[in-house]
Amino acid sequence: IMIYGIALFSSCAFKEKEEISDPIDKKVAELMSKMTLEEKIGQMTQITITALEKSGSPGVLDKEKLREAIHKYKIGSILNVPNPGAPTPQRWYEVLSEILEETNKTDNKIPVIYGIDAIHGASYTAGAILFPQQIGMAATWDPELVEKCTAVSAYETRASSIPWVFSPDLDLPRNPAWSRLWESFGEDSYLSSEMGVAMVKGFQGDDIGDANKVAACIKHYIGYGSPTTGKDRTPSIIPERVLRQYDLPIYEKSVEAGAKSVMISSGEINGTPVHASKRIITDILKGELNFKGFVVTDWKDIIYLHTRHKVAATMREAVKKSVMAGIDMSMVPEDYTFYEELFSLVSDGEIPMSRIDDAVRRILRVKYELDLFRTPVTNPEDYPDFGTASSSALAYIAASESITLLKNKENVLPLSKEKKVLVTGPTANSMKHLNGGWSYTWQGEKSDQYAKDNLNIKQAFEKKLGQENVLYAPGVSIFEEIDIAKSVALAKQADYIVLCLGEHNYTETPGDIDDLVITEPQVKLAEALSKLNKPIILVLNEGRPRIISQFEKDMDGVLQCYLPGNEGAKALVDVVYGDVNPSGKLPYNYPRYTSALQKYNRKYTESLGDSEQNDDADYQRSYNPQWEFGFGLSYTTFEYKNLSFDKVFFKKGDAVKVSVDVQNTGERKGKEVVQLYLTDLYASITPEVKSLKRFSKIELQPGEVKTVSFTINVDDLKFVDENNQWVAESGEFEISVGNLVKKIVLEKEI
Ligand code: BGC
Repeated sequence: IMIYGIALFSSCAFKEKEEISDPIDKKVAELMSKMTLEEKIGQMTQITITALEKSGSPGVLDKEKLREAIHKYKIGSILNVPNPGAPTPQRWYEVLSEILEETNKTDNKIPVIYGIDAIHGASYTAGAILFPQQIGMAATWDPELVEKCTAVSAYETRASSIPWVFSPDLDLPRNPAWSRLWESFGEDSYLSSEMGVAMVKGFQGDDIGDANKVAACIKHYIGYGSPTTGKDRTPSIIPERVLRQYDLPIYEKSVEAGAKSVMISSGEINGTPVHASKRIITDILKGELNFKGFVVTDWKDIIYLHTRHKVAATMREAVKKSVMAGIDMSMVPEDYTFYEELFSLVSDGEIPMSRIDDAVRRILRVKYELDLFRTPVTNPEDYPDFGTASSSALAYIAASESITLLKNKENVLPLSKEKKVLVTGPTANSMKHLNGGWSYTWQGEKSDQYAKDNLNIKQAFEKKLGQENVLYAPGVSIFEEIDIAKSVALAKQADYIVLCLGEHNYTETPGDIDDLVITEPQVKLAEALSKLNKPIILVLNEGRPRIISQFEKDMDGVLQCYLPGNEGAKALVDVVYGDVNPSGKLPYNYPRYTSALQKYNRKYTESLGDSEQNDDADYQRSYNPQWEFGFGLSYTTFEYKNLSFDKVFFKKGDAVKVSVDVQNTGERKGKEVVQLYLTDLYASITPEVKSLKRFSKIELQPGEVKTVSFTINVDDLKFVDENNQWVAESGEFEISVGNLVKKIVLEKEI
């Protein structure tokens, strides 16, 4: 007993000492010792700014509502954008200063942490640079570039006085119809985790106390990207084994990189809404992954436990379930039921004070780390680089690196500048289509906030060729026919047709679709133009891969430009005319048929074909995407040679150095993404046909050869077994790079 007593005492003493030794923990503890329960619950409450607006005067705060929020409910956080449209940095400064004025009147003067969806730039600030959306960033296969662009987003968000962004999106979409696929990095876990880390680093740098940095919020933990129906916020069925192998590592890497907050998925996994899952939030995220930041709900999701998911018979029960599951902050967002219920639950002893203290400690820690107590707002005058040409140039580079050349029949591209073009289609004459959702407004529907020098596709062609060489007619809108005959008539006067198809602006449930096939009026326009026998360049400007197989064979060139941002059209036109050599690669399988939505890292048994041969040809017959993950053409050619390993047989603890020579065998300089895939030949869980393990984007002059090296270790051979444990099994593995394949062998342990 004595020994036990001493041990217990010394471990407490040690803990106390440990807490005191960290200056931020010390400040947090001091502050918390002065806080009332009301103040603590207030810190856990986040409301939307629109709930504080004067009715009838959008964009203007109602002093009374603001006072109520700060003094009565002591709220710790505010989100979203005052209506209408995106404020300038100066306006943001004024709004946040107005809020600060109120928090400064409280006893403890705790600043609110303001959060925003800055997902491809400071996308809720007028004049901010808008980069390609995440799906395009993934297509660059260049994490360093992504980090640089994200640092600009951080700077411009902080220039707007906002210290916290709900980004990056680490969802892993399994159904390409999902309306938020474009907010993700595509279908591969490894590519997504590398890109996620790049964004976290770009937002946070080494120290979020630096007033050019913001706290990141990785979202939507977890399984949100895989609704079985393909519709947003609908249930997913993901066995734990699968969740651990593919979804969790993406979060794990960003948590390791220091992400300060996590937003929870609005969906449910295997029947449990994630907001109610102690296992997923507390045991796995805060426990296994050792996440030290704070966890915020998504929009209204505690209320939805009661009203939508129906796992809580009352709002009180919903609050109890989610807070006990590990939620630290509730995106309320419009009323104070969460606050009232939580207060009463704690007062009645139904939620222990320790849970509240844990949540508040996590939130306050991030506020101190952001240095919000000393720098609660930032003056836009201190941010001279907001919206500068050099940041725009970076957005241009990102767009150029993302655009993916999917088809180039008889090298129709690059086009000659001497010829006339018809630019047609519903996405040709609009900035909003280039940007998609979360662009100055939620659905990106506002088209009047773009700077004059942001060109849409039609304007970019006119700038390149002179107006007299560019004919234009929309032909159709996304959902309706306008005047196909006019496009056809103009096409007859042109040498080339540039057909710009894609999608309307959307996100979340308004983006749900019943059919992945591109909309009917667009199919009709493509078919009508195909009859003319003129070269057609199809430009896809879409958030998800809409099926185009009905008319793809009649297209001469196909360029996927995703949602490339403000500089996207300039980059596109430079690719079309060869001033930029395309180097983007698909971050997903582009499906050919609506009922064949396999991912590239499928199992052999997903495509058995129609015979008993089980040979390669057989697998290939029923695995036939329009274009495969990782695919993208260039205007030059690359040859892979000399795939070699420093050893073939290796043991646990060893690493294998893989090297390969890549040569530019064409006549233009170009960039190539060298991709290394691994195939486990036999395993106790059915192995994938291949899975991406490493990549590197390199640039080569004509004729130049570069040797690219990668190191593969035993962790890369692991998979999650039946018992949900990561294991490496001895045996043979194939490593493929380009068209070269070689085996390595993991030896049995004796
Ligand atoms: C979305 C989140 C977003 C939040 C705040 C929700 O509807 O699902 O991704 O961060 O709104 O705007």
